[in-house]
Amino acid sequence: MVYPLIAANWKMHGSRTFARELVQEVVQATQEDVVAGRYAVLFCPPALLIAEVADRLKATPFLIGGQDCHPEESGAYTGETSAEMLKDAGASHVILGHSERRQAQGETPALVAQKVLAAQRAGLTPILCVGELEAERNAGQAEAWVTEQLHQSLPDRLPDPNRLILAYEPVWAIGSGRVPSLEQIDSMQRHLQQALSERGLEQIAILYGGSLKPDNARAIFALPSVAGGLVGGASLNPQTFHAICSAAREAD
Ligand code: PEP
Repeated sequence: MVYPLIAANWKMHGSRTFARELVQEVVQATQEDVVAGRYAVLFCPPALLIAEVADRLKATPFLIGGQDCHPEESGAYTGETSAEMLKDAGASHVILGHSERRQAQGETPALVAQKVLAAQRAGLTPILCVGELEAERNAGQAEAWVTEQLHQSLPDRLPDPNRLILAYEPVWAIGSGRVPSLEQIDSMQRHLQQALSERGLEQIAILYGGSLKPDNARAIFALPSVAGGLVGGASLNPQTFHAICSAAREAD
């Protein structure tokens, strides 16, 4: 896996035309860097657009991921998508435990842990998201809280301890235009590194996500504890997303 990794979480945005055009523009702007291994780019479109994007990116180093998966391989689960289906559509990664799902869908850490297992079983790399609410940050409990969330969202035994990526995403920073200070980000990333190493997972890379923009990305990516970014809103505009990717190259 090439790092820094810049992952685009499109959330519930796009159409087939939008996906084709956005991917085309991002590929044109970044392919020289991606082919040279200066950073990696991962597109995470809505499930219905994965096959479309995968088709366009066939035989390129660009990566494709889902935004969630069901813990079971198949069955009577109306409206759900399994990890195996994401893989079959062309995905190699899947975002799991995003705060929007933990909050709006009531996903518990135990359910997220089952999804991590399901993703690995299907041969996908899970990108496990963790992050504190503003109340926990204000109470001075952010590190302890997020570390506990990480432990509870990880299965006891990972089938493939190397096939996992962590993303620290403070909930209050997502879509708000607010970001933690560099010291706060670095401190949290180090706590998470420590928590991972207590479980023999010190090799796992940790991304930062939450209001990444061209004007803050370079300083954040320059932190040695940050292995790349998970980008939401800013990934929907090809110029802005390209500028964030360039920041990853310059910060390296
Ligand atoms: C996200 O939802 O994963 C995210 C980081 O969103 P945004 O970049 O819009 O804050």
